[in-house]
Amino acid sequence: MSETKKIALITGANKGIGLETARQLGKLRVTILVGSRDLARGEEAVEVLLGIGVDARAVKLDVVSEADRTAIAKLIEKEFGRLDILINNAGVMLDGRAGNETSTTSSKMLHETFETNFFAVVALTQTLLPLIRKSEAGRIVNLSSILASLTLHATKGSFIYDAKTFAYDASKAALNSFTIHLAHELQSTKIKVNSAHPGWVKTDMGGAGAQMEIVDGAKTSVALATLPDDGPTGGYFHMGEPLPW
Ligand code: NDP
Repeated sequence: MSETKKIALITGANKGIGLETARQLGKLRVTILVGSRDLARGEEAVEVLLGIGVDARAVKLDVVSEADRTAIAKLIEKEFGRLDILINNAGVMLDGRAGNETSTTSSKMLHETFETNFFAVVALTQTLLPLIRKSEAGRIVNLSSILASLTLHATKGSFIYDAKTFAYDASKAALNSFTIHLAHELQSTKIKVNSAHPGWVKTDMGGAGAQMEIVDGAKTSVALATLPDDGPTGGYFHMGEPLPW
């Protein structure tokens, strides 16, 4: 029995967790649109994916560019007429790991971080929502972080208590708010919206000292992108476990 292939857009999929998510989701017979702000890097990633049998296509998408966001919506509308899965994976951590103080975090740092990690995600999702509504079961995954957890940040002795990267943490907390609000609005539809904490993963962002291998770092995104109809919405998860907001 032939089944219509699902269409997924993953932002920032040219490397890191995004690329591994493309690989794992592609192995589940999903057609992957590999979002990359540098098309050449996206095409390199697609070469690798095609080589292992994943149906992938590179698309230029700098998430902070309104022109790129509009263009991708037009392309998806024209080629597929709907979008089944949106993984808002692209993100930046501009705060340094060491010597970063909340009291001296610059306005520029805050704006630049929020531009990518929050405003662009909201704008892209809003632009693509009409196409996601056309899916039989749309899934939206927002790549958050454990560092978004206000509860853990406020709890002395929690394992992130001393990991304070203010601009990054606040941008991901705002992203979690978007997850909750959008899921509430869409609760009577089949669309599910969830936040994912991938784990502390060995990528350019996570660094070589991170705990998790990249293959495991993509698992939470893949699970939330392929939730069954009775799966959760408006949640914040790591490897199937709910996290404190
Ligand atoms: P990487 O730094 O390895 O990759 C980030 C990706 O985002 C790259 O493809 C990068 O593109 C892309 N990107 C950044 N800005 C933009 C933009 N304006 N438009 C389009 N793409 C952009 O990070 P990870 O793979 O580790 O992180 C993926 C997600 O997971 C992020 O949202 C991150 O915050 C989150 N996360 C990661 C953790 C970790 O330990 N690694 C922990 C918790 C959360 P380019 O190659 O052009 O720079």
